[in-house]
Amino acid sequence: MILRHKLLLAQMPLALALLLVGVVAVNTLRELGRAGQGILADNYRSVLAMQDIIEHLERLDSAALFIVAGERQRGLVQVEANRAPLETTLRIQEGNITEPGEAEATRRLSEAWSRYQTRYERFLGQEEGGARGVYFETLAPGFQAAREAARAILVLNQDAMVRKSEAQQRQSQRVNVLMGLAVVGALAGGLVASASLTQRALRPVGVLSGAVRRLGEGDLGTRAVVEGGDEIAGLARDFNAMAEALQRYQRSSLGELLQAQASAQAAIDSLPDLVVVFGVEGGVLNVNRAAEEALRLSLEGGGMLGQVEPEVRVVLERVRAHVLGGKGAYLPTGYEEAVRLEAPEGARWLLPRGSPVYGEGGGVVGATVILQDVTRLRRFDELKNDLVATVAHEFRTPLTSLRMAIHLCVEEAAGPITEKQADLLHAAREDCERLQGIVDDLLDLSKLQSGREVLELRPVSTREVLEAALAPHRMAAEDKGVRLREEPDPEVEDTRVEADPERLQLVLSNLVANAVRHTPREGEVVVRARRDGEARIRFEVADTGEGIAPEHQARIFEKFYRVPGSATGSAGLGLSIAQEIVQAHGGELGLTSEVGRGSTFGFSLPRSRRDEQG
Ligand code: ADP
Repeated sequence: MILRHKLLLAQMPLALALLLVGVVAVNTLRELGRAGQGILADNYRSVLAMQDIIEHLERLDSAALFIVAGERQRGLVQVEANRAPLETTLRIQEGNITEPGEAEATRRLSEAWSRYQTRYERFLGQEEGGARGVYFETLAPGFQAAREAARAILVLNQDAMVRKSEAQQRQSQRVNVLMGLAVVGALAGGLVASASLTQRALRPVGVLSGAVRRLGEGDLGTRAVVEGGDEIAGLARDFNAMAEALQRYQRSSLGELLQAQASAQAAIDSLPDLVVVFGVEGGVLNVNRAAEEALRLSLEGGGMLGQVEPEVRVVLERVRAHVLGGKGAYLPTGYEEAVRLEAPEGARWLLPRGSPVYGEGGGVVGATVILQDVTRLRRFDELKNDLVATVAHEFRTPLTSLRMAIHLCVEEAAGPITEKQADLLHAAREDCERLQGIVDDLLDLSKLQSGREVLELRPVSTREVLEAALAPHRMAAEDKGVRLREEPDPEVEDTRVEADPERLQLVLSNLVANAVRHTPREGEVVVRARRDGEARIRFEVADTGEGIAPEHQARIFEKFYRVPGSATGSAGLGLSIAQEIVQAHGGELGLTSEVGRGSTFGFSLPRSRRDEQG
């Protein structure tokens, strides 16, 4: 049933109550009317009849008196005028017997009337003189008896009328009470029934609104249970379908999200390397299980590095600063960068690596730092270094005596030699010297790398360093036709840097040697020193030589790396030694170069404190 019909039905009890009251009212009114009518029909007519009869009887009596008085003619006329109507009226009364005892009284009247009539006949038949006696003897008492009989009926009916009228009054009072009760009862019943029907019709609205409220509070499993086929049930069905769809959507999107998140976490957890993800503010956003265990890092701690061992923290912070500073990915240059981490199973060496996390807009929104466990590889590297150092060391003494022997032969200390022999020995001596240079380089490098060599830092005059670095190469440059000059900034000429002078000289010497070697005739090599901020001096060696292609630039600092096709004669160790020394001083050897136009190598060293004060 549709809602409109239900609401209409709810009005029905009230309408029915109204109808009932109406019917009852019409019925009782009709009954009352009928009762009144009854009194009129039953009694009033008898009363009239009796008055009529009494009137006629009195006229007859006065007619008899007329006759007694000698007015016989007038009396007879009057007798004639009254006898027939009385008869008629008496017939009417005989047909209108309504009260108990009325029949009896009427019979008595009829008898009295017949007797009176008989006596009247006899009276009329008397002579004038005898009429008077008959009248008083029989006629007058007959008249009295008939009149009394009529009056008895009259009284009977009048009493009945009074009684009935009183009864009617009582009945109408009862009816009043009854009507009042009926109205009240019908109204109350109708109202109760209407209210309960309306409530029943509207109960689903309450159910539905409760379900809507629960859904609003986030309970997507809620459903509105409304039976039937009306508009509200339809609304409830639509609501349930909507809730179902929402729940499905939530389940699927949340499920997929959780699954994706879990699998991403599982993926980084499965890595043996330590992974730490930093946000753009520098806080830890995520760590994998390996990092959590090894570094005692947890996200619950607010993502701070406070718990991490200081050495590792320094490395993490350095790589993070590099990546978040917008310098791109951070790649380690060698195993030497690995940081030591004490673990229950022994020391571990972790090699840092960092890469930026890009946001949707393409900007850096975070940094992923990976600490790769290189304990085994580093041990191999150490073994290799040890081996190289040992071999180099073992080569050194025989090489020296070899060179000595060749030298003595060339100088003919062991007897004369032919020109051809001299040429061969010259070449052998040069190779020997080169070999010795390589062996020296190797030894230097392994000493630097193993950390056995401790820097002897002291204030060193900038100008002196530059001069000392250039001096050994002036001859070679001149031979080659390359201009070699120093260009100290007047501002820094008299400053001093905090450095190990011999090592610093070695660095500059290596750079100048390379520059001269890779610069063609007519070219120029310039060595500069200038201020780099308040507390540092920057050294640069610039040439106008062949330059270095970008793909080799990152690699030329590696050990034994030489640009393919470049002049042979060395082992590719010079730049790595230089880098080691600069890094040991707390700097970084950098390079800018363009193929065909030249290269510039440079690094910064701290100014001497004593220098600053003085
Ligand atoms: P080596 O001792 O063999 O020169 P380095 O480590 O000093 O080795 O240099 C590595 C490579 O870098 C060299 O093979 C050379 O090709 C290149 N190189 C170094 N300096 C320069 C320069 N100033 N101009 C061009 N190439 C250079």
